[in-house]
Parts: sequence; structure tokens; C-alpha cells
Amino acid sequence: MKKVFCSLLSLLLISGTLMAQTKVIAHRGYWDCSGSAQNSIASLQKAQEIGIYGSECDVYVTADGVVVLNHDRTHGSMNVEQTKYKQLKKLKLKNGEILPTFKSYLKQGLKDTNTKLIVEIKSHKDTANEDRCVKEVVKMVKKYKMENQVEYISFSKRACSNLITLSPSTPVAYLGSDIAPKELKKLGYSGVDFSDATFNKHPEWIDEAKACGLTINVWTIDKGADMQHFINQKVDYITTNNPLLLKGLVKIIQTINSRNT
Ligand code: MG
Repeated sequence: MKKVFCSLLSLLLISGTLMAQTKVIAHRGYWDCSGSAQNSIASLQKAQEIGIYGSECDVYVTADGVVVLNHDRTHGSMNVEQTKYKQLKKLKLKNGEILPTFKSYLKQGLKDTNTKLIVEIKSHKDTANEDRCVKEVVKMVKKYKMENQVEYISFSKRACSNLITLSPSTPVAYLGSDIAPKELKKLGYSGVDFSDATFNKHPEWIDEAKACGLTINVWTIDKGADMQHFINQKVDYITTNNPLLLKGLVKIIQTINSRNT
């Protein structure tokens, strides 16, 4: 019986079923489709519908302490950090949605717990606001018991350090290009989340990250040839504005690679 099980396991491994696959993360959600918009509730819903690993979003805190989704420091002409939510929500997103609160985003996340929420804490102009944003985000994620569904990323070393302290069991990856993987490992990070330009400048950082046991994410990869390059490099995640193309390519390339193994 044991022999049969081992043979079956080998077969599955060879066929690629159990081989580690590069996973797809939708950059600012799946927004390039009808009814969606970047950093909207719809963009998370659409990402959930296409069955990918995760949906990325960007968060800031408003002047009155509401964590909201937004990529830029401004929403229209309003500075998010310096404006109350009541004012900010008067300007709707391109798909007609009200500027989403992080709370409403988490509630959408709970509708399909298979889709990870990759939450980027934006670098705030005021570090006190950034600290407040981190605290609020961690508090809400704990309240909804979503620590296993959320992963954190940031360009801010301060935000990352606070996240590692406040939520040690949740993955935290660094987006910047100025720290080598082995240094990030020592600082308690779980992964690297570098641009393709960073990996092109430091191709050795892929093996270094793997040797340290850090996860590897690369952003923002929208062209098929670049996707193929990083899939073949066996990175853990690729963040893209074109999640359907990437999902299809991952399947094709890894099937071919497993046949050639
Ligand atoms: Mg982002």
C-alpha cells in the first residue's frame, strides 16, 4: 500500500500537480474590465471571480482616522491625509463607487476567503499618520480574524517594521530596492517584493532570497515575455495589471516545464 502511495506521489510530482507554481496577484485589484476601477470593491470582487491567488490594494488614513483605499496621496484635488472621509467620499471612483473604506474592503474579502488581500501601506507624508494607518489596519484585520488571508507590503521601512512587531504571524514584504534579501531576513521580513528593474540590476537576489527562505514577488509585469522570464525563474508571485494573461501563461509554461522534467 505504501509502495503504491509513493508511486502515485512521484507521478503527481512529475506531472507538476504538486510543483510550486508562480501565483497571480492583481495589481490594484482586477480593474481593467467592465464595471471595475483601481482600488475599488469591484476590483476585489472581479479578482475573486477569476480565481487568482491575491488582489493588491493601497491604503492611506484620512484626517479623521478612516483607512481608505487610494493609490495617490490625493483623491482628485484633495489630500487624503489632510481631508475628512465625509469630504473625500463626495468624489466617486471611475466606476461610480464611493471611495472604499478598508473596513468595507475586508467585508468583501470575507465573501471569498480563498483570495488573499495584499495590502500596501502607503508612505504617508506625516509619520504619525502612517503609524496610525498601520495600527488601524492591523486592528481591523484582527477584529475580522483575517490574519491568514492578509499579507502586508510597503516601501516604508518604518511601516514594515511596525507591521512585523504588531502582527508577527502575517507575511510582510519590502517593496524598495535598497536592501538585500539577507538583510531583510535578519530584520524579520517574510519576503521580497521587488520591481523587475531591481531584479534586472541584482539578478543574484533571486537565489539569495530563495536561500534565505524568503518569498519572492515581482512587480508590475504586464508583458507575456516578461511573465515567462519570471515564471521560469520560479518566483513565488507576480503582480500584474493583466491577471488573466498571467494566469493562462502560468498554466501553459508550467505544464511544458513539468513535461520536460
Ligand atoms: Mg500598490
